[in-house]
Amino acid sequence: MKRVCVFAGSSPGGNPEYVASARALGAALVSRGVALVYGGGGTGLMGALADTVLDAGGEVTGIIPGPLATRELAHPGLSELCVVASMHERKALMAERSDAFIALPGGLGTVEELMEIWTWAQLGIHSKPFGLLNAEGFYDPLIGFVDRMVADGFVKPAYRTLVIVENEPETLLAALAAFRAPPLRQWMANTET
Ligand code: AMP
Repeated sequence: MKRVCVFAGSSPGGNPEYVASARALGAALVSRGVALVYGGGGTGLMGALADTVLDAGGEVTGIIPGPLATRELAHPGLSELCVVASMHERKALMAERSDAFIALPGGLGTVEELMEIWTWAQLGIHSKPFGLLNAEGFYDPLIGFVDRMVADGFVKPAYRTLVIVENEPETLLAALAAFRAPPLRQWMANTET
């Protein structure tokens, strides 16, 4: 696992624990020698994460659409900044460049990015691991909602269990590194039954 893509809020959130968890994740990435791929913004949890990795001597690639580069204040000090044309290109390039995905707490953009990775796994578009850094139980309601989808027959249990949920960055990174994807054909067969 050489590069991990992290989705995170462009805002810091109201609880200082969220920024603390972004910083802890940044430190854990650097201590494992894993490079960060993210949305390229300099604000909120995104900025705190990138700053931590850079300050600790790690490598950070930001991928940001041109129009957002000014609105979200593209981080000026990244190892690499890729300016792309659209949100779709951003997500495609983030996925291509990364071996695994993590969502920190965030808003609608963060959840949208997470759900796309989850649905792409369900469709067999990728077989990379993904997880939630569940600081302050932030993602408990989302997991509860997906559990409801499973209980009501909208989601196969096999797709619910793909997501790795942990509170500690080190535990999460270790679980992502240990992940072995089920064979793709088996996933597609599950979709069809
Ligand atoms: P938020 O969680 O809303 O603060 O957004 C976090 C990041 O997700 C920001 O860099 C947003 O630009 C990005 N984002 C928002 N909507 C989308 C989308 N539809 N596709 C890709 N990225 C998005």
